[in-house]
Amino acid sequence: MEKLKQKILTEGRVSGDDILKVDSFLNHQLDVAFLNEIGKEFAKRFEGKKIDKILTIEASGIAIASIASQHFGNVPVVFAKKVESKNLDKDVYEAQVYSFTKAKNYTIRVSKKYLNEGENILVLDDFLANGRAAIGLNELVEQAGANLVGVGIVIEKGFQEGAKLLESKNINLQSLVVLDSIKDGKVNFR
Ligand code: 5GP
Repeated sequence: MEKLKQKILTEGRVSGDDILKVDSFLNHQLDVAFLNEIGKEFAKRFEGKKIDKILTIEASGIAIASIASQHFGNVPVVFAKKVESKNLDKDVYEAQVYSFTKAKNYTIRVSKKYLNEGENILVLDDFLANGRAAIGLNELVEQAGANLVGVGIVIEKGFQEGAKLLESKNINLQSLVVLDSIKDGKVNFR
């Protein structure tokens, strides 16, 4: 997605050789008009597929998925929770995810009410690094007996293991841009 490449080049900030920060439009401040373009592009990538729900993970996935939903016929958006809370039902699907950015494990949970057997689920998220978040979300889908239609990612870091891991599980991965490397403060696209 050419516009996304330009946006990353003008607004992205690099941290070390493996982290891209896009806080100005995706991870802190939200560029709603631009997220709408991203939503449209995801709808194109998954055109013709039956999608009953979009599943994502808090926090940054929520805005992406909510805006994208409007291009998938306003299907419900479910976000997996990372933080344990007294408000969450006790009856949950849960999976362990290793966080690349925080270098620790955490548990993701979705109430059993909101993922059902036979539903067709599209997973959307902001970044793909080593694929742990996407695999954790897929585990929730499997526990529910639902079907994973695919995984849509805004920015894939192609130099990490995520895409390979999803391919090995025959998951339909659609990344809007793929980074080949981050070197000397610069992003190189595939
Ligand atoms: P994975 O589970 O694929 O290893 O990592 C994906 C998750 O880690 C994403 O949901 C995202 O929140 C975070 N992440 C990984 N790499 C980056 C990065 O370079 N920049 C930002 N902003 N988040 C990242």
